[in-house]
Amino acid sequence: TGPQLFAPERTNSKGFDLTHSPTLAAIEEARTPFRHHEWTAAPILAGDASPEAPEPLTNPADPADHPGTVAWASAADVESALAAATPWAAPASERATILNRAADLYEAHFGEIFAIVAREAGKSLPDAVAELREAVDFLRYYAANAPEGDPVGIFTCISPWNFPLAIFTGQVAAALAAGNAVLAKPAEQTPLIAHRAVELMHEAGVPRDVLQLLPGAGEVGAALTSDARVGGVAFTGSTDTARIIRRAMARHLAPDAPLIAETGGLNAMIVDSTALPEQAVQAIVESAFQSAGQRCSALRCLYVQEDIAEGFTEMLKGAMDQLAMGDPWHLSTDCGPVIDDEARAGIAAHIDAARADGRLMHEIRTPNAGHFIAPTLIRVGGIKDMEREIFGPVLHLATFHSGDLDRVIGDINATGYGLTFGLQTRIDDRVQHVSEAIHAGNIYVNRNQIGAIVGSQPFGGEGLSGTGPKAGGPHYLARFGARPAPQTGE
Ligand code: GLU
Repeated sequence: TGPQLFAPERTNSKGFDLTHSPTLAAIEEARTPFRHHEWTAAPILAGDASPEAPEPLTNPADPADHPGTVAWASAADVESALAAATPWAAPASERATILNRAADLYEAHFGEIFAIVAREAGKSLPDAVAELREAVDFLRYYAANAPEGDPVGIFTCISPWNFPLAIFTGQVAAALAAGNAVLAKPAEQTPLIAHRAVELMHEAGVPRDVLQLLPGAGEVGAALTSDARVGGVAFTGSTDTARIIRRAMARHLAPDAPLIAETGGLNAMIVDSTALPEQAVQAIVESAFQSAGQRCSALRCLYVQEDIAEGFTEMLKGAMDQLAMGDPWHLSTDCGPVIDDEARAGIAAHIDAARADGRLMHEIRTPNAGHFIAPTLIRVGGIKDMEREIFGPVLHLATFHSGDLDRVIGDINATGYGLTFGLQTRIDDRVQHVSEAIHAGNIYVNRNQIGAIVGSQPFGGEGLSGTGPKAGGPHYLARFGARPAPQTGE
């Protein structure tokens, strides 16, 4: 019958059809009890915790709304977690059963999960649906592929706020599927959803000494990446933080301890004069502004062929004008807030500098309260003018002449990043040529460049964008297992 190419028992989650009114009514009913609920986040350890005093958390869309409190892990909690951490002795089939049960529990709690990610992370309902869908896909995908081999030992998982459930769960599920003990440190901005996720994984049957949660800031991450008892680290966040972790690991961990890092991007899209304008505009708006641009995959620098640039830019501005900004709880919201005031201020300073230089091409209105940044279009000469990733709803636009395509590709590659790339064209040879020449982990043609699907679009970059292997792909789990012992007798 030949080799098994696809894990037989696994299918991706269908998610929720938000155009179907009974589905919307069911979502409304399930999340309404959580509209004013207050959750608590705190260390979840195998033994007793002695965390710091709880602090309030704030909804990024509404400073008056407090979704809950967080008690940060103390230094004693980190030590207690390290001392108690125990790799998962259960056979792979049992680990898989428990991870699948966790996926079922996540789905059963959809209303609460949508409420937490809206109020803690500013996720619109479509983004919240995608978040839950990806999280359960990761659980089931790694469960279906849980390996029999030895684990690394203790894995530290450090996750970002922009996918506070999906990436948190993906890292943890991979490390658990391979049988590791996990010490999970979620982003400071989003401890509530991580806390709830760990409760559900424990309820599913993951032992408490196998999975422990340590909410905290940089010091907790530093402690968890510079202790010789830790065997490996999974990290998603900035390229700069990945370098710090790499240095700490080099100094304190075993020389072959794996670091699986997924970091930033300076992602481009090229639109040539043969592209279908409506399709390209839609793909651009989704890629640049969905999730308020807070995805590492998001489009940052758009290249439009000079011949069509004028009319095309007008269409793009028109589409931007249609975007509704506001409270992510409301179904009509396309673009929610950015994560916190520090993020807002940094992005606003970038926009102000462009305004001062006369490079602001378009922006839409911003609501007054909350940490909002309006979708904004800024003119640049090319990607070379962009010093760093601006992690928000800000798109940079450059034009190019048809003869300059290879120079544009060279400039994109020269950034050193290589995460996502988009191409809009109807010339088949160009698809071939550009996809071969561009250095990027995920290349998308004639569609948006965000929202990779577990199992079918493994996600991850190269160069400054990450170490690989790609999450949700067939090689990811191998990095969470012990290397086979070297062959003897050379
Ligand atoms: N996997 C996400 C996507 O394809 C991006 C992940 C991230 O932002 O870290 O859009």
